[in-house]
Parts: sequence; C-alpha cells; structure tokens
Amino acid sequence: MNKVINEFLNEVNRRNSHEPEFMQAVSEVASTVLPYIVSKKIYHGKNILLRMVEPERVIMFRVPWVDDSGEIRVNRGYRVEMNSAIGPYKGGLRFHKSVNLSILKFLAFEQVFKNALTTLPMGGGKGGSDFDPKDKSDAEVMRFCQSFMTELFRHIGPNRDIPAGDIGVGGREIGFLFGQYKKLKNEFTGVLTGKGVSWGGSLIRPEATGYGTVYFAQNMLERVGDNLENKQVLISGSGNVAQYAAEKCIMLNAKVLTLSDSSGFIHDPDGIDIEKLNYVMKIKNVERQRISKYADKYSQAKYYHNQKPWSIPCHVALPCATENEITESNAKELILNGCFCVSEGANMPSTPTAIKHFHQAKVFYAPGKASNAGGVAVSGLEMAQNSLRYNWTREEVDLRLKKIMKDIHDSCIVYGKQKNYVNYEKGANIAGFVKVADAMLAQGVV
Ligand code: GLU
Repeated sequence: MNKVINEFLNEVNRRNSHEPEFMQAVSEVASTVLPYIVSKKIYHGKNILLRMVEPERVIMFRVPWVDDSGEIRVNRGYRVEMNSAIGPYKGGLRFHKSVNLSILKFLAFEQVFKNALTTLPMGGGKGGSDFDPKDKSDAEVMRFCQSFMTELFRHIGPNRDIPAGDIGVGGREIGFLFGQYKKLKNEFTGVLTGKGVSWGGSLIRPEATGYGTVYFAQNMLERVGDNLENKQVLISGSGNVAQYAAEKCIMLNAKVLTLSDSSGFIHDPDGIDIEKLNYVMKIKNVERQRISKYADKYSQAKYYHNQKPWSIPCHVALPCATENEITESNAKELILNGCFCVSEGANMPSTPTAIKHFHQAKVFYAPGKASNAGGVAVSGLEMAQNSLRYNWTREEVDLRLKKIMKDIHDSCIVYGKQKNYVNYEKGANIAGFVKVADAMLAQGVV
C-alpha cells in the first residue's frame, strides 16, 4: 500500500512541489483514502483522487487600491475553484499577509471534503488576498474590497461560486464586497454568505463555526458517556471562531482557560465567563486591539508574549487560530498534561506528526474538515433561505446546525471505526471522498 501512496504523492508533488501546505493536505487525505479506493472496485483505476487534487480553475488577479495617504498599493487576489461535482463552488475568502496559492489550494481542497460532509449541495473553493486588514482604516478596507470585487464579480454568482468569510474577512468586509457586487451586477442575490441579518444573512452564521466545533466535541464525548461539564478547555485564537467556541463552552459549563492572537496568549485560571468574553469581543471586534489587553483589565490573568496556549494543563483543546499551530511537541505536552479531546475549529491546525501522537494516545481527535464544518453548513442554510426568500429563526437554524454536526460525527464513525478507537480523520476523509467521487463517476470525465 505504501508504494501506491508514494507513487501517487510523487506524481502530485511533481506539479506542486513548491506548495508545502497543499502537499500536506493532499498527503493527509491520500494516506487514508487511497487504501479505501484500492479496496473498492467502483473507485479503483479511475484516477478520481488525481482528478480531485487538480483545481477545476484558478483565477489570479491584480488588486490595485489607494491608501489614506494617497499612495497606490497593489495586492494579489485569488479564487481557487476546486471541485463542483456536488454543487457550486463554496468557500471563504482569506485576507492575510501569508496568503499564497499553496495556502488557498490546501484550503480549497479541504473545503471540498468538508462541504460534502455537511450533506448540503456545495462544491469547494477558496480565495483571498495577501492584503492585511490589520492597521488599515475602514475606508482603506472598503477601497480594497471594492477593487477586489471589481475583478472577482465576473467569476462568481449564486449558482456558480459563493464566497464567504475566513481569516481577515468578517461582517465588515462581506458588506463592502456585497455592496460592490450589487452595484456592478445590478442584482440583489445570495452571491456571498455571512451577510448582515437585515440584508439576507442568516441568524447563527457568526456563531456557527465555533458552536459547531463544540457540538462536535460534545458528540465525541457523549458517545463514551461523558460531556463537557466542568472540563478545562484551552482555546487558541480570539477571532470569530474562538469567540463563539468559548461562548458555547461557557453555556455548557466548561471552564475556558485561554485565548490567543498572533502576538501571544492569555491564561485566566478563574476561567473566562460571559462578561469577560463580552470584553474580548469589544477589544477584538470593535477596538481591533490585541488580546494582551485582557490581562491589563483582569489581574488574575497572565499574558504570555509570543507563546501558544498548549502548555497549560487541560482536558479539551480547541485550536481555533490557524494552520499548523499544534506541532509534535505541543501535542506531546497536551497529552502528557491530560488532554484527551481535540476538536479543530481552524483548518489543518495540527501538523501530521501531532495527529500521529493524538491517534497513538487514543485522543478523541476531530479534524477541522469535520469539526469546523458548522460554519459552511450554516452558509448553506443561508443560501437556502436566500432562495426561499425567507428567514428561519435562531432556534430553527441552531437545531439544523446541531443535526448536521451529529450527522457528520456519525458518518465519521461509519468509515473510521476501528477496534477500540474511532479514527475521525480517516472517517471524515473517506465519507467526504465517497460523496464527491460518486458524483464525479456519474458525470463522466469532465
Ligand atoms: N471559511 C469557512 C470555512 O473554512 C467558511 C466558508 C463558508 O462559509 O463558505 O469553512
């Protein structure tokens, strides 16, 4: 089997050797899915995975804009349209200085599997720019978004490709992008998700990724007769995903000990309660400040500059920041300190060796493409509401989100159950693959 996997990866590497994040995502899927393909006559010999690693289309474009001092700036814009076998391309836009083709191809590839797992009719895509919204004024962000959409609008549409948010793209950016699309097309359609509730957005969309990540952890624990009550939880990140993961943990009586940003992390041994979380939302969403401000206000909390939270003893870890934030040594330390449940709110936050240690230690480990699918799932529900010209209540959307997360959990078990352990990583990869592969087989070689 190793020979088949190596030959496949060599072939993919031949074209993509300069894209390490993309190769990492492909290797992770190949090592679990190829043995399955070889064992199933309907999939074997059809080069389905080889077709899936090649984006259907990649769009790259110049994004010129003028900053507040009158200087002309240039960024690079992208949209990777990865796979449309089960629905129109769907996935977020990331604005961050680290954005390049490798990062966006890894995210688009993961998105194909994630979207398939939601059971909603969405293909996979991802886009963004190396534009860094940090320290930019609202007016600069608006001008950038308008320039970005001035090119992107011709490639997207409610039945073709539906972008949304990701790192650096929240409600403010979606608003500017939507306004420009509407102006250029003279159409009010559900072309983006994550919209404001008064102009076509869905209730629970801002909460969905974080809530979904916690629902997934809850499902894994409930399967073995446990729950989140009184569990000590480490959360990384302090953006939208981390904030609502923390909120749901607090609602379920777990104790949230940490939050972080790219400068460092805060540890509050008393636990972050709703009042303190509201303060975090204010400093992050309104003031756009660093998380270190938390420790200035709450004296029992400590701020650790340039460090990640994984050295703090915990039961549950929810990485909600970014890719490869849990390394092998972080994973070892987490396990040694008693962590037995990891539910990923970010995309690919654990390195391959970290994942190996989680499996060896029989940690309940949920990969992002399963556990953070709640965000895009509610995006799918936003699209459904836009098509219906109707809005569901908070309770209705939350109920559907809970059911989708439970169904994803259960399909991971179908394909990932081993003797004394559920390999959720393997389960998610195969369950996602089967759905997309069946559609590709039915539609012929296109
Ligand atoms: N960026 C999110 C993700 O990684 C959401 C995408 C969407 O809502 O389309 O799944």
